[in-house]
Amino acid sequence: MGCCCDKNCKESKKLTSKELIEMEHHYGAHNYHPLEVVISRAEGVWVWDPEGKKYLDCLSAYSAVNQGHRHPVIIKALKDQADVLTLTSRAFFNDQWPVFAKRLCEYTGKDMVLPMNTGAEAVETAIKLARRWGYEIKKVEKDKAEIIVMRENFHGRTTTIVGFSTDPDAYNNYGPFTPGFVHVDYNDTAAVEKAITKNTVAVLVEPIQGEAGVFVPNDGYLKKLREICTKNNVLLVADEVQTGFGRTGKKFCFMHDDIEPDIIIMGKALGGGVFPVSAVAANKGIMGVFTPGSHGSTFGGNPLGCAVALAALKVLDDEKLADRSAEMGAYFMAKLNELKAKSKKIKQVRGKGLLIGVVMDKDILSAAGEKARKYTTALKERGVLAKETHDWIIRFAPPLVITKADIDWAMGIISEVLG
Ligand SMILES: *Cc1c(COP(=O)(O)O)cnc(C)c1O
Repeated sequence: MGCCCDKNCKESKKLTSKELIEMEHHYGAHNYHPLEVVISRAEGVWVWDPEGKKYLDCLSAYSAVNQGHRHPVIIKALKDQADVLTLTSRAFFNDQWPVFAKRLCEYTGKDMVLPMNTGAEAVETAIKLARRWGYEIKKVEKDKAEIIVMRENFHGRTTTIVGFSTDPDAYNNYGPFTPGFVHVDYNDTAAVEKAITKNTVAVLVEPIQGEAGVFVPNDGYLKKLREICTKNNVLLVADEVQTGFGRTGKKFCFMHDDIEPDIIIMGKALGGGVFPVSAVAANKGIMGVFTPGSHGSTFGGNPLGCAVALAALKVLDDEKLADRSAEMGAYFMAKLNELKAKSKKIKQVRGKGLLIGVVMDKDILSAAGEKARKYTTALKERGVLAKETHDWIIRFAPPLVITKADIDWAMGIISEVLG
């Protein structure tokens, strides 16, 4: 049975999950290892497969769907904008980018923003910005700039970015890599202090390491990094692509430490789960080093993305989703901790807001010849979609519009599987 693509055929047959999985496996590059579930429809925290089975989404497309799937305000903005203007390139002005730029400056408290599309592009932008600032303002000797990065980081998939990843899966056989990156352990401020030289231009950090397994640093970690950076005239660059926009219970995760980074990197939920929109924010003294022609993107600042992002920010504010994330996250984590008290398999529950990692006992799992994948598969069978990171950590990060009733429903299944 195949898809009926004949124009004259009125009743196009729907492909089954099994057929779609086989088709993807055959024609799509194998750079992912998805759970065996096909999603063909979604609304709020729920998604459905082609057979009509319903699942609770506890991944939110790696926190890109904080506002919930197909939020009506965001979808309306998309449709309305699609009807009038979608793309101009930055060779001309358009009537959406300036409005979105102003709004994002207000949201971040920074003077200026630069728009891109994906998170990795925003990270690349921040790297270029920090280096240029280093040469032109800090007066670092040509081509000597160093950026301090953390072990176990995840900042995206471009060649430069994977070049400073410490995960062999991410970097293997992609070299030679961009030089100028220095590694230190995450959550170790003394190591940062030691690694700083006269050529250091920036410290690049995730406020919580999401992909590494929801690794939450000690309270005050960012505050101490802020002090070290200020003292040494080094830029503090926060990658808030995953932790931003309410995910951890604050607008941005760095706000838990009550600090201001010099450069804020944003993506994922900035596009409301609808359109790729990313951006970098900084004050004039830094962003001013970009001059016409020195950086750009054909789709960056496109009117469709800007209209969507404006709506995405409006929903976050109107529905107070950061506060909601703090409240629902505390509720979810308390329930998971109750389960942990009863289950030997769960070693730790960690996170902030609705970015939660359940660390399973590696020894118990390996003694049984199991990996977290077995559990995420079992959760999926029962209707909860969560993804493992590494072989023993399961991340729970549902859309921030989740209710206590939804969490209770999910906990029934999680208890069955992990209990
Ligand atoms: C997802 C992610 C990125 C990369 O974003 P893409 O849109 O996939 O390029 C960068 N940094 C962090 C912390 C992320 O979680």
